[in-house]
Amino acid sequence: MSSVNKSAHPFDKGRLEALLSRRFFYAPAFEIYGGVAGLYDYGPSGSALQANIIAEWRKHFIVEEGMLELDTTIMTPASVFETSGHVARFADWMVKDVKTGDVIRADHLVKNVLEARLAGDKEARGQAAVSTKEDEKDKKKKKKAAKVTAVKLDDDVVKTYESTLAQLDNFSGPELGELCRKFNIKNPDTDNEVSEPQEFNLMFASSIGPTGQHPGYLRPETAQGHFLNFSRLLDYNNGRIPFASAQIGRSFRNEISPRAGLLRVREFTMAEIEHFVDPEDKSHPRFKEVQDVVLVLLNRHVQSSGSTGSIKMSIGEAVAKGIIANQTLAYFMARIYLYLLKIGIDPDRLRFRQHMANEMAHYATDCWDAEIHNSSGWVECVGCADRAAYDLTVHSAKTGHPLVVREALKQPIVTEKEVPEFDKKILGKTFKQEAGLIQKHVESLDEAALLRLKEEIAKGSTAIIIDGKTFEITPELLRIERRTFKQSTREYTPNVVEPSFGLGRILYSLLEHTYWSREQDIERGVLSLPPVVAPTKVLIVPLSSKEEFDPLVREVSSKLRRAGIFSRVDDSNTSIGKRYARNDELGTPYGVTIDFASVQNRTMTLRERDTMDQRIGSIDEVIATVTDLVEGNIDWAEACRRLPAYDGVQAVD
Ligand code: AMP
Repeated sequence: MSSVNKSAHPFDKGRLEALLSRRFFYAPAFEIYGGVAGLYDYGPSGSALQANIIAEWRKHFIVEEGMLELDTTIMTPASVFETSGHVARFADWMVKDVKTGDVIRADHLVKNVLEARLAGDKEARGQAAVSTKEDEKDKKKKKKAAKVTAVKLDDDVVKTYESTLAQLDNFSGPELGELCRKFNIKNPDTDNEVSEPQEFNLMFASSIGPTGQHPGYLRPETAQGHFLNFSRLLDYNNGRIPFASAQIGRSFRNEISPRAGLLRVREFTMAEIEHFVDPEDKSHPRFKEVQDVVLVLLNRHVQSSGSTGSIKMSIGEAVAKGIIANQTLAYFMARIYLYLLKIGIDPDRLRFRQHMANEMAHYATDCWDAEIHNSSGWVECVGCADRAAYDLTVHSAKTGHPLVVREALKQPIVTEKEVPEFDKKILGKTFKQEAGLIQKHVESLDEAALLRLKEEIAKGSTAIIIDGKTFEITPELLRIERRTFKQSTREYTPNVVEPSFGLGRILYSLLEHTYWSREQDIERGVLSLPPVVAPTKVLIVPLSSKEEFDPLVREVSSKLRRAGIFSRVDDSNTSIGKRYARNDELGTPYGVTIDFASVQNRTMTLRERDTMDQRIGSIDEVIATVTDLVEGNIDWAEACRRLPAYDGVQAVD
C-alpha cells in the first residue's frame, strides 16, 4: 500500500476554484447576462455532492433520531415575520461611502481594515508568519483594499485592535460607527469617509396575489414553518414531547455585500431542526451516547475579554461545568460534530464558538456556532441556538391559537387556597358603580391579605380603603372560604433547541478540506471526498472501445447498480491516465479497469484515488470489495488484504 503526501503543495485557492469551475461543481447564476452577486447554480458534480450531503444528513438526524420531516412554503405573509420579530430586527448594519454612495457592511469594513493594519504591522516588525502563496495573494488583496503598507503600530494600538477584533460580533451599529471614527476607518476603495451605520433588513419583500395588497417575504430561515405547524406536529406525536421536526429547503437573505463565493449568498439551502423540549427538563435521553465526545470550545467570556483562546473539553464536562447551558443543546453540538466528521470535514479545523450577549439573534437565549476554518478564516456553518419559548409564545399571543403542551399529571397536584365570594346583589345595591372596583381589589389580594380580611370580617364588619376612599364590608356581603383545588393537567409552552445548517458553506469548506495536488504534478488536483458524499463512487474504465468489451462493461455496471453503488462509465477516447486524473478532480474514490485480461479471465483491477494503488481480483470479488469500501464496512488496508497488488502494464497511469 502506498502512502500519500497530501501537503506537498500549499493550498492554492485559485487552482481549486479553477477546478470547481472546470468540473462544473457550481458557477455564477445568469452568467451570460453578467451574473448577479450572491446567486449561484450548481452543476452535475455540485448537485450530486449536495444531494449526498443531504442524504447523509437525513440518515444522521431524521432517521437516527426519528424526527418529523416537514416541507413548508417559502413565500410567507408579512404578518408572520412581523410577529416573529424579523421585520423589526432581522437586519445588518451598513455604511455608505459619503461621496460615491457605495454600500459596505459595517462590521466587515472594520474587520478588514484592522486586520490589514495588523498585517502591515507584522510585516514592519519582520514577523510575517510563514505563509502560502495563496495567503500572500489574499494578504496583498486585503492590504491593497485597506490602503495599508508595512507600518509599525504602537504595542498598545496592536492590543486594542486585537481585542476589538475578538469582540467584533458583539458591537451594535452605533458602536461600529464609533469605531470607524476612533480608528479613522474610511472606504479602502476610495479613501472617502463613511456614513453612520444604518440598519438594513435582509428579507426580500414581495406581495401575494394580483392586487399587491397582501405583503409577503421570502423566508430567511425555514424555522417559522415548524413553529406554525406545532399543534399538528404535537398531535402527530401523540401529544408527547420531546420531539424534533426537521426541514431541508431554500432560504433567502438580501446580503449587503455577498463577495465570498458560496459562503455568503442570497439564496441557499438550509437544513434545520427544531427540537421541542420541556423548559423544566432539558436533559436528553441519549446524552450518555455522546458525553465523551471532545469538542473545541470558545466561550463568550473568553471572547468578551478580547481573546480567541479555545479549550478542548468533553461535552459531558462542559455541561457539568455550566459552560454549555443544558444537555439538549450539548447533545446536538456533539451530533453536529459527528455529522461533519462523517462527511469529511477536518476535525482540526472545526470549533464551537458561543455567541456574545449582543450578537445573539433576537429570539435566542444561548447559541453556539459550529465554525469551520477555511481560506476565509473561521466561518459559521451551523448555528445551534436555544430559542427558549420565544417563537411559540409570540405566534400564540398574536393568533390566539394555543401553541402549548397539555400533559396529564401522573399525580394530580392538590392545593388549598382562600377564595373570596361576594353576594353580587348586595354588592351592586350597596356600592352601585363602585362595586366592580371593590371586587377587583379584593380578588387581587394575596393569600396573607385575604386571611387578614377573613379574620376581620369574622369579628363583624370591617373597612377597606381603595384610592383613599373607605368602603364598609359586612359578613353578608363577602365570605372568604378555604377551598381545595385539584390540578390533573400541566400546560406549558415548550422551549426549542435549533440546530441550523447552511449546506453551501459546509459544501464549500468540504471542498477546501479535501482538495490537494499530487506531489509530482501540481496541476493534478484531487478531491479526497469520502465515498459517502462523493458524486460518483466507482468509475468503470474500459481500456478500449472495442465491442468485445461491451458485455463486460454492461455486466459490471448492472452488478454495481444492483449492489446500490453509483458508478459511471468513462469510455472517452482519451488515455487512461487522463481519465483517472479527471475523476480524481471529481472526487471519485474508486476506479475499476476492464482490460483484455478481463475479457479472457474475468478479472478486473481496482484503483484507489488517493494512493493510486491498484489491486486485482475476479469481477465478483472486486465488486464485493468495492461495495464494502463504499459502504464503509472495510478500509483500503483491508481491501489490500483481500485483493493482491496489480503490477500489470495495461492500466498504469
Ligand atoms: P443563522 O440563522 O444566521 O444562524 O444562519 C444559519 C446558517 O445558515 C449559518 O450557520 C450558515 O451556515 C447559513 N447561512 C446564513 N446566511 C448565509 C448566507 N448569506 N449564505 C450562505 N449561508 C448562510
